[in-house]
Amino acid sequence: MREHADFVVIGGGLAGCAVAYHLARDGGADVVVLEQGELNAAASGNNSGSFHAQIPVEPFLNQGEGWAHRFAPTLRLMMGGIARWMELPGELGAPELEVTAKGGIMVARRPAELEMLRRKSAIERAMGLDVRLLDRAEMLSLAPYLAPETVGGTCCPIEGKANPLMATFAFARAAQRHGARIRRGCRVTGMTHDGAAWLVATSAGTIRAQRVVNCAGAAAGEVAAWLGLDLPIEAHPIQVTVTERAEPLVPHLVYSAADRLSLKQTAQGSVIIGGGWPGRLHPVTGLPVVSEDSLVANLRLAIEVVPAVARLRVVRSWAAIVNGTQDWRPILGELPGEPGVFLCFFPWMGFTAGPHVARLVAELALGRRAADDPEIAGFAPGA
Ligand SMILES: Cc1cc2nc3c(=O)[nH]c(=O)nc-3n(C[C@H](O)[C@H](O)[C@H](O)COP(=O)(O)OP(=O)(O)OC[C@H]3O[C@@H](n4cnc5c(N)ncnc54)[C@H](O)[C@@H]3O)c2cc1C
Repeated sequence: MREHADFVVIGGGLAGCAVAYHLARDGGADVVVLEQGELNAAASGNNSGSFHAQIPVEPFLNQGEGWAHRFAPTLRLMMGGIARWMELPGELGAPELEVTAKGGIMVARRPAELEMLRRKSAIERAMGLDVRLLDRAEMLSLAPYLAPETVGGTCCPIEGKANPLMATFAFARAAQRHGARIRRGCRVTGMTHDGAAWLVATSAGTIRAQRVVNCAGAAAGEVAAWLGLDLPIEAHPIQVTVTERAEPLVPHLVYSAADRLSLKQTAQGSVIIGGGWPGRLHPVTGLPVVSEDSLVANLRLAIEVVPAVARLRVVRSWAAIVNGTQDWRPILGELPGEPGVFLCFFPWMGFTAGPHVARLVAELALGRRAADDPEIAGFAPGA
């Protein structure tokens, strides 16, 4: 007999497990999560765990202020994401999430960088983000571990971090407590209409579902293409490095205003260094691997900004595929012309916003949030 469900969720990353949790808990729905590999094995479990609220430097420098104004509404979802993270350890019964928000600082080492931060932070403040421009003395007083060449920067008190190894599993367990079924090693291969419902074809048979939520991350475009939709979804290998443990050194999430850098210290003392430097795809396996050029450039920048990092030994670097879009904006909502199929896709910074946008999309899919709800409307597929 064919399996049935109210909802099929495609993808067992942070987005998929969080969507499943809200569908099952808030809607009492019968939910099946289908994951082709293991839970949390893609971007959600391989990221740096930063909570970003400031506009990222790289697209600001490369795509300009016009881009930043188009991107700016996304900041509300990132702020909503960070606020949501603060609730999660208690709500999910998961202190192991290691959620902290001791503030993020973006460090300028040249006057032109400080001027860029002044323009960027004005856009951020207009969206309601608490971000302050600091001069050299204020920066060094706040963060005495910074290089003496620091000329100033910004501070955003809500930024912080959590443990990406734990979050997806906490959502998955909570979803299961509310009755969700989770299938690992079950690849979705296509879907077709069946009246008002959907037949979801998988490597383990067909499931008939009233609604489908596409949470396939970097593969979400491929899934949408089965329905003839061409969404601007990309997949890029990027990399992260972790050092040996050290005494408490850096309480903040540290960025550079010059280039890609995110640097922070975990609860256990390791320093995590990332920021979106590109990895490579292995020519034979096609799997993401670390680029030495990126590793050197990333570490050089880290040491320029926080010199004490130079004495720490690197333990490991890894690369993973991040879900991206050129404009950095998320795509959230029901697919045009395909009633009952929803997309939950937050590019580049989907760890920060994931738990929040998952709830928004689940509410939409449950019919409890209108498609023209201002929080989500501007991000609809094809908008
Ligand atoms: C190295 C790195 C560092 C990052 N650092 C940060 C950071 O510090 N802060 C931040 O906010 N964000 C960061 N990100 C981005 C963030 O990790 C992602 O945006 C987020 O995890 C995306 O979550 P997701 O659940 O949508 O996708 P994923 O975690 O990629 O999950 C998608 C899942 O769908 C499954 N799937 C795909 N196709 C199918 C199919 N046909 N059938 C069944 N299953 C399928 C995949 O196997 C996968 O498990 C980083 C990403 C990377 C790679």
